[in-house]
Amino acid sequence: MGSMGPAAGKPHAVCLPYPAQGHITPMLNVAKLLHARGFDVTFVNTEYNHARLVRSRGAAAVAGLPGFRFATIPDGLPPSDDDDVTQDIPALCKSTTETCLGPFRDLLARLNDPTTGHPPVTCVVSDVVMGFSMEAANELGLPYVHLWTASAISYLGYRHYRLLIGRGLAPFKDTELLTNDEYLDTPVEDVPGLRSMRLRDFPSFIRTTDPDEYMVRYVLRETERTAGASAVILNSFGDLEGEAVEAMEALGLPKVYALGPLPLLADEQPPTPRSAINLSLWKEQDECLQWLDGRQPGSVVYVNFGSITVMTNAQMVEFAWGLAQSGKQFMWIVRRDLVKGDAAVLPEEFLAETAGRGLMASWCPQQEVLNHPAVGAFLTHSGWNSALESLFGGVPVISWPFFADQQTNCRYQCNEWGVGMEIDSNVQRDAVAGLITEIMEGEKGKSMRKRAVEWKESAVKAAMPGGSSHINFHELVRDVLLPKN
Ligand code: UDP
Repeated sequence: MGSMGPAAGKPHAVCLPYPAQGHITPMLNVAKLLHARGFDVTFVNTEYNHARLVRSRGAAAVAGLPGFRFATIPDGLPPSDDDDVTQDIPALCKSTTETCLGPFRDLLARLNDPTTGHPPVTCVVSDVVMGFSMEAANELGLPYVHLWTASAISYLGYRHYRLLIGRGLAPFKDTELLTNDEYLDTPVEDVPGLRSMRLRDFPSFIRTTDPDEYMVRYVLRETERTAGASAVILNSFGDLEGEAVEAMEALGLPKVYALGPLPLLADEQPPTPRSAINLSLWKEQDECLQWLDGRQPGSVVYVNFGSITVMTNAQMVEFAWGLAQSGKQFMWIVRRDLVKGDAAVLPEEFLAETAGRGLMASWCPQQEVLNHPAVGAFLTHSGWNSALESLFGGVPVISWPFFADQQTNCRYQCNEWGVGMEIDSNVQRDAVAGLITEIMEGEKGKSMRKRAVEWKESAVKAAMPGGSSHINFHELVRDVLLPKN
């Protein structure tokens, strides 16, 4: 090669997340870890998200650091009327799959141009559901690692869709069955790597009567494609999901490295100024932490359904009156687009009755909230990041799973890990109030809190030097990501 700049010889990782918050955050943690480990990093956002980040956080948020740059590719969706909302997930899955390979291939070519002054790309870390990138990495003969940002159990849940189809349990025979609780409770025996599963505990896309349902075909293709990667990395840890990780490998995957909880592992690395790069698509309201500072330990119910969940206004009103009836203090994050098709409207009487004991906000620094001593319980949708963040915050949960992997996470939180209680999907105020009382005051709540604190200890242990995730990260770098001489 002609001109060798000062950075030549350094490894260069290109990190390609799926463009939703719950995927961007774990990929950013991987990117920071690699940067701290001496890699040049290029982090690829979609143009849509890049523009949102500039608007909500300022241009500095995506200006990068020495050896850490941002790049963009289009997501393939037409421009939307509202450019500050969660995009339609199935539409985004379809458009990224069908349109992103070309722009990604071009980006790699540009990054490899010696005149840029940075080293050529030496490896690609891609989200599993951005699997189109495998072709571009293979063309250049690069090590290619897949990040699965959800739980190992949910990966198995998706892969075992084939088992449900083979046993005639899916597609559903009748639309009535899709919401039939008795049918959804059908036990599904002998699912390799998974325990005590019912039909309802499989990731939600399987709840369809359509044998050609797009999302079923999509998740099967994307998860099965992982067999062709050089390695798989996960935001989880051995004590929590070791059995499921082994079951993943038994499906013919390359070595699976559990590196979680990634935020703890990323915290431990000194050189990257962690707070210098924050890719939260919404601006956090810092008054949330100040408000918590004024509350007694364990006294607040924290309510947040993540970045994608939507509900009807009627469901939101049931949650509201459940919180009011419980008599507890609460902090409730209502995203601007939480209610389907409309702005969220809460009853005046609810706001008047709970004034002084409830804080409403639109986005918060969740990880810090869950580590705040005032938080006693978390009413959640059980997105995987939220599930892990509550575990290493030592906070038990009430779970209202919305879609995708959340059903499987909820099952394990409630049935295997001893940290959760589930709310019926047809949410009713009395049930919400009853579960809040139980989790905040009851014996069950006490035992769940104890389990959550034990999980917190094992999560920290996994991420510390000598811990399983810490060791796995260094092995991944040494055995897979660093160029072989
Ligand atoms: N999050 C946050 N502030 C909020 C809501 C969410 O920082 O007010 C973060 C949260 O900490 C988590 C991510 O957004 O890291 C949501 O990911 P998760 O997997 O829990 O759910 P999803 O949004 O993908 O459904």
